Amino acid sequence: MELQSKYRTLRDVPQLDYLSPGGSLCAGCGGLLAVRLFHKVLGKNVVWVNAAGCMTIMVNYPLVPLKSNWLYTAFASAPAGAQGIRDALDILIKKGKIPESEDLKVVVVTGDGAAYDIGLQSTSGAIYRNLDFYYLCYDNQAYGNTGFQVSSATPVGSSTATTPATPSQPAGNIQKRKDLFEIWRAHNPPYIATLSSSYAVDFLKKVEKGSGFRGPKLYISLAGCPTGWGYDPRETIREEKLAVDTGIWPLKEAVEGKVRHTVVPRALRPVEEYLATQARYQHLFTPTKRIDVIRQIQNDVNSYWEGVADREGFDIKLVET
Ligand code: SF4
Repeated sequence: MELQSKYRTLRDVPQLDYLSPGGSLCAGCGGLLAVRLFHKVLGKNVVWVNAAGCMTIMVNYPLVPLKSNWLYTAFASAPAGAQGIRDALDILIKKGKIPESEDLKVVVVTGDGAAYDIGLQSTSGAIYRNLDFYYLCYDNQAYGNTGFQVSSATPVGSSTATTPATPSQPAGNIQKRKDLFEIWRAHNPPYIATLSSSYAVDFLKKVEKGSGFRGPKLYISLAGCPTGWGYDPRETIREEKLAVDTGIWPLKEAVEGKVRHTVVPRALRPVEEYLATQARYQHLFTPTKRIDVIRQIQNDVNSYWEGVADREGFDIKLVET
């Protein structure tokens, strides 16, 4: 039976913040918003273990905007840092050096570069060892803070600094994203979820639900990136919502491996509505419209949702291509 959540409407989003306002990240950063929401559920007894990435810029000692704790690690080794902290806490509690009330939740926070590429090996090891930790990936779909180079989370059609649209490669990036959700699921962790701050109640519920499990817990949060995606910083929530409503960013969870979609758009909006609003896709619209690439993206979305509707038994109205 599904446990009753304390988050039912937007009015239930906690007012208390564990992050000070201001800071050195780009205005409108969706990654920062994900960290803020995540922290609201976990409370202040948290240690963030950060792999090199955009969030690293948030903490410039002695200027720490968090009311919790922070450990910075190299790109590939955040899960190893998390293991060290978890082990140290367990030993200190066992020896009675600190009371259980001072235990900390250990949260790895990385961008997609570390999560999908550079840190995947150490992550796999940590899941295999059944480390009790949260893994929050803010997925802005490129290497954001070094100039928006392609990562293995970059979607087809996106122009990046290393996959620009050119006469010989007019689509921009042609590689499909790795499926990090399924890579984790193959390791049999107790809880995995995708998130978007635009569906804040769904977001909070999933963090709350995952907290009920010991072991590795993955959260992949879409992270609208005004700087790299090319839109007005005030539109982050709108962009993230369009990603969900067009079906490009499915909101789902897997409890003990069983997958369920938590937000199901009854009628998908055309992907074009999402792509047209971002500079990284403008080569698909000007000087000539790349109907072939847009159709490929739409077909991929349609076939994903067709499969989900069959497996989970609901109706969904697809977009005709
Ligand atoms: S580059 Fe993008 S993800 Fe990185 S801080 Fe700026 S807005 Fe956030």
